[in-house]
This record gives sequence, structure tokens and C-alpha cells, in this order.
Amino acid sequence: MKTLDQLAFDNRFARLGDTFSTRVLPQPIEQPRLVVASPAAMALLDLDPGESARPEFAALFAGHRLWQDAEPRAMVYSGHQFGMYNPQLGDGRGLLLGEVVNARGEYWDLHLKGAGYTPYSRMGDGRAVLRSSIREFLASEHLAALGIPTTRALCVVASTTPVYRERAETAAMLLRLSPSHLRFGHFEFFYYTRQHEALRQLAEHALDCHFPACREQAQPFAAMFREVVERTAATIALWQAYGFCHGVMNTDNMSLLGLTFDYGPYAFLDDFDAHHVCNHSDDSGRYSFENQVPIAHWNLSALGQALTPLVAVEQLRESLALFLPLYQAHYLDRMRRRLGLRTAEDGDEVLVQRLLALMQQGGVDYSRFFRSLGDEPAAAAMQRLREDFVDLAGFDAWAADYLARAAREGAQDESERRARMHAVNPRYILRNYLAQQAIEAAEQGDYGPVRELHAVLSRPFADQPGMERYAERPPEWGKHLEISCSS
Ligand code: AMP
Ligand code: MG
Repeated sequence: MKTLDQLAFDNRFARLGDTFSTRVLPQPIEQPRLVVASPAAMALLDLDPGESARPEFAALFAGHRLWQDAEPRAMVYSGHQFGMYNPQLGDGRGLLLGEVVNARGEYWDLHLKGAGYTPYSRMGDGRAVLRSSIREFLASEHLAALGIPTTRALCVVASTTPVYRERAETAAMLLRLSPSHLRFGHFEFFYYTRQHEALRQLAEHALDCHFPACREQAQPFAAMFREVVERTAATIALWQAYGFCHGVMNTDNMSLLGLTFDYGPYAFLDDFDAHHVCNHSDDSGRYSFENQVPIAHWNLSALGQALTPLVAVEQLRESLALFLPLYQAHYLDRMRRRLGLRTAEDGDEVLVQRLLALMQQGGVDYSRFFRSLGDEPAAAAMQRLREDFVDLAGFDAWAADYLARAAREGAQDESERRARMHAVNPRYILRNYLAQQAIEAAEQGDYGPVRELHAVLSRPFADQPGMERYAERPPEWGKHLEISCSS
């Protein structure tokens, strides 16, 4: 276990030089106070969990100090936002502090979000507000605990520094961890500015640092693109299986590693609704829940376009064509497991679709349905779950088919079935209203609720005595919170 001062830095991205990023020092925020830290994320850096109690911890992650070996850089990128190409983005408020190498030889980018002005801040103030920092923290650590690929969050530090959004708020900083902060938009920037040598240099860097196995292939860049397609398909399948809505799937928010990246107005579905749009600013519903699949494919095409100087178009097309079948296979696999099925049958996809259509019609709570299904033997569960549906005849027909389907797998050991289902169906899910309640307390200076919510959500599959209130049905107001892009 290490102390803060013992972290070992390597700064491979910084060494690529000024074409790719600009050296910028963090601008500290006033009177830093630690809101919450993640012991699981600290473990990724081999940090002693006790380190977060030191005053230096909050000061460090509020920009007041810097490690000697850190090389803070603002990265340049561009990207397609809501379908339109924006040529000039880049990190307007986040700094890559450096890469830390842990005892297992893993590299982790330390990224300080809300660190102040950079050359890419455009009209922005370079800051992040407390509420959005808490939202990213909670989601990062919760998705990780659910087994959904994501960037991680080490901590949130609050301050008294004022920032102005729709109202006066205070600035916070979030320390994000990721094996890489490379986005699709990084490649788009160098493609559209016709800096094809820099594009190649960036792709070489990505290969060496993040896709070493592709190096061994006959066509390394083509292999890397194929792997990005595969990873993205796997991640999006889990989003859809767990009802996660990202909300802002711009290509600058797409991770080259297929991680869930840049949390904004995200939501986990409460009542199942395929058409749900979680971003209040998304008027056309471009990033609705069901659109996430075609949008991910569209975003991959945008990345493919940016790689055309390096990879033959035919090869890019072949990899892109893999996306949908891969997505469907991953999605169906996870949905079978969520339904407690151990084998695959041809009719399973239709069985899932019929269930979702019934849920949609009845406004059935998505997460609770699956957890309840594992709580007791299937036939008994059907009787109880039935009450939540409106098309009772439709539900009965589905339930009969589901029970017959499950029976074809042979006799069940009930306690084994329960354990197997509970291992994939969370008891606790990060509902927007839970985040909202914790944020409101934090804005009043009480960080207890954020810390408790984080602790509960970091063990989402375990029944946690005394924490039942976090697993309840959401209140009606909680289903209709308006979360916008403002952050
Ligand atoms: P986002 O919607 O948070 O992914 O941000 C889109 C782009 O705007 C990114 O390039 C951000 O770095 C930048 N940005 C967002 N908020 C701010 C801010 N308050 N100040 C400066 N730049 C920002
Ligand atoms: Mg972003």
C-alpha cells in the first residue's frame, strides 16, 4: 500500500508533445473539502485507503499541490455533437495530470475534471459544478460494480469557489481514472485538420499503449479498429441490458477503449421505456434509450472515417458490419442470464422482446422486475409480478411460455437459481432521484448521504440489511426529474 507521495508516474501521452496537448496548470478551488472517495478506485493505484483522510488529499485533488513527476496537459480533440461536426473541442476543463503505474504494471490516467481554463475552454469557465461531479462519481463507481466497462472515479472535492450556470453554484473537482482518455474525437481532429502524420502517430501510440495484441496482427491499425468495434458492442449491450441511458453520445464522449465515458445527464430507467430521453436538452431524442445502439454504430463509422488514411475502407466496413451481430449476441446472452436461463434457444430473442413490450405498456419498473424474478421460484414470482402489468392476458401468455422455456432446461436447484440470478440482477440501482437527494444534502454541506449511497451502490448485487430504502420503488416525482447538459 502506498501513500500519496509514493505514486510512480510515467507520462506517455504527454511525451507525444504539443501537437496533442498543451501544458496547463490546475487553477485551485477555494477551501477544498473532500466529499467522497472510492476505496475501490484507490486500490487501483495501490493507495492506502487511509490516505483520503489526510488534508493533503483534498488539497491535491483541488489543484493546490501537484506531484513533482506529474505533467498536467489539456488534450485537443474534436467530434460530432448531436450529429454535427464541431472542429474545435478539446478538454475545456479537464487536465490529464499524468499516468500512474501500479504494482501490477497497469497504467492509470489521472484526470482532474473542473481544473480551470485551458486553451480549449471556448466560452466556458473551465469548471465543473458539485452536482455533476457527484453524479459522475456515483455512476462511475456503480457501473464498475455492475461489471459495465467504465472510467473510474477516485474522489470529489467541493469548494466555495462560485460558478454560474442556471443559478449560482459552487465548483468541485473530480479525479477520474482511466487506462486511457483517448476518444473517437481525438482521431477525428487530426483527420479533419489533415494532419495525417499526427493521426498515424496517435494511432501508433494507441497501439503500443492500449492494444498491444493488435501490434502482432498483419494489419495492426485494422485490428485495432476491429477491437474498438468489439468492445463498444459489448459495452452498449450491457447498457441496454441494464437500462442505462448515457444521454450525450457525441463522438467526443466515446472512449477508444469502449468504456462508458463522460457522464452527464445519464439515467438508469425506472419504468421501462424504450423511447426514454434522459437529456432534457435533447429535443429530437437523438440519444434516446433505444437509439443508443444505432448511434454507437454511427459513432464507430465516424471513427472509421477518421482512420481512412490508415486502414483500407473495405476493412473498416467489414469491422463495422460486425457491430450489430456482436451487440445482439452480447445483449441476448445477458438478458438470458437476467431471466435465469442457462441455455440458448432460437425463440429467446422474441421472448425478451415480448416481455419488454409488456413492460413498456404497463410502465413496469425495469430493475425490480429481474431482481424479484430471482427472489422466489419462477411460478410463484409470476403471480406476484403479474400485478404490475396492465395487459394481464398478454402477461399470462408470456409467463406460460417463459415457465415452459425454463422447464425445458430441466429441474432447478432453487437456491442455486437464486444465487445465479442475484449475481446478475442488482438489488440496488443508481436511480436519478437517489442521486438527487444525496446531491441536495451535499449542496447543504452534508456529505453523509453521498457517502452512504456510494457505499450501497458499490455492492449492488448484495442484500444489505438496513439499506432497503435504496431498493424501493422510486416516488412518482423521482421518475420525472429534468436533467440537462448543464454541468
Ligand atoms: P461535455 O458535454 O461535458 O462532454 O463537454 C463538451 C465539450 O465542452 C468538452 O470539450 C468540454 O471540455 C467542454 N466543456 C464543458 N463544460 C465546460 C466548461 N464549464 N468550461 C470549459 N469547457 C467546457
Ligand atoms: Mg465530453
